[in-house]
Amino acid sequence: MDIKELKKELLSSKKNGYDCLAEADLTAMEEYCKAYMAYLDAGKTERLCAAETVRMAEEKGFRPYVRGMELNCGDKVYVCNRGKGVMLAHIGKKSLSEGAQIAAAHIDSPRLDLKPNPLYEENELAYFKTHYYGGIRKYQWVTIPLELHGVVVLADGKSVPVNIGADAGDPKLVITDLLPHLGQEQSKKPLGQAFSGEILNILLGSRPIGDEEESGRVKLAVMKLLHDKYGIKEDDFTSAELEVVPAVNATEIGLDRSMIGAYGHDDRVCAYAALKALLDLEETPEKTAVCILADKEEIGSDGVTGMQSAAFDTFMEDLCESQQVPVRACFEKAFCLSADVTAAFDPDFSDVYEKKNAAYLNYGIGLCKYTGARGKSGASDANAETVAYVRGLLEKNHITWQIAELGKVDAGGGGTVAMYMANRNIATLDAGVPVLSMHAPFEVVAKLDCYETYRGMKAVYQG
Ligand code: MN
Ligand code: MN
Repeated sequence: MDIKELKKELLSSKKNGYDCLAEADLTAMEEYCKAYMAYLDAGKTERLCAAETVRMAEEKGFRPYVRGMELNCGDKVYVCNRGKGVMLAHIGKKSLSEGAQIAAAHIDSPRLDLKPNPLYEENELAYFKTHYYGGIRKYQWVTIPLELHGVVVLADGKSVPVNIGADAGDPKLVITDLLPHLGQEQSKKPLGQAFSGEILNILLGSRPIGDEEESGRVKLAVMKLLHDKYGIKEDDFTSAELEVVPAVNATEIGLDRSMIGAYGHDDRVCAYAALKALLDLEETPEKTAVCILADKEEIGSDGVTGMQSAAFDTFMEDLCESQQVPVRACFEKAFCLSADVTAAFDPDFSDVYEKKNAAYLNYGIGLCKYTGARGKSGASDANAETVAYVRGLLEKNHITWQIAELGKVDAGGGGTVAMYMANRNIATLDAGVPVLSMHAPFEVVAKLDCYETYRGMKAVYQG
């Protein structure tokens, strides 16, 4: 046998997605990414993202599920979990006793939350105190324009939506940093220690009101502005969820426009793919297709809106009950693609990656057999059968895919919702879009990988 043929026959030959995709796919990819960028801009927090998700689902004929509702093949329903997560189902031709095809992603992203007593004045400048949410590199959040979103819930239960910085003409917020001229001591500190969580304070104002003998006039002026706009008082911060996020919209990156830069790709890039694929299913799927967009992944998936919450089990139990199927029978035959981003190989930091097992931009949806740290701890570690199933599915549908680990052995690690699905006795595999600068205020993904992940999700739902 010719050596070239033998190589082709026996050795792996993963290709750049641009060498595989047809012209028509590239056009569809651009259209898909444009809509994805709009989704990002509309949903910079889990609440806004959930609201946008519901809006899109209703537009495509999904109805809010009410317990006891009769469900038939082809029905499309959703449940919004406390405004912060969404679960959707397209009832399939087969009984739920045959399982379900599930995609799970998360719609919360690393950010800065306001503390319960956030407002203060120092040297006639007003600030909000923050407590960071998720794994951030604190130095990345200073000296960039920020905006604030969330709700203040009054003692009578009335919910007041807050938005500062996102509307046209709105002022932005910022966290200041030391000037280099006076930064000599700070510069000697290790990166992880140079910025403490307690300096991530949001600059709000500098203009006092009232007589000069009075103290706290800048804080009062800010509180008055908030009261004028939202009708809130200082004590109302107690029952609020106010989130500070980067004040930047999604934008194309590179002279060739092949990438997208934005806040919150992790994990809205997979959430959008999972959602859009479900909404775009032309035919009723064989098995029931389920999409769950969860909150709280970035802090461990605990809590009532996280993937560990019984909210998901309740949703699935309700669906199963409508067909007199025990949910455990559905779960043991179900498959879940835990759709979350993975680290893209970065040539500038090549020493933390193992090149043979890294995910690369433009090489398609990245499968991860396991995540975790220190010898796969905290990982679901999918079995070979599950990986084979997904690999077969992707190959059958001509989807560009790769398989990777998150960095070198012992370089660090991470987790996803995969183990919480797998712990429910659902065969689960991690897969998602490779991201550069993951968890930064501005992350980068490749358009091709976004589109291939969407196509992969469609293949999963179709089974
Ligand atoms: Mn994630
Ligand atoms: Mn993350």
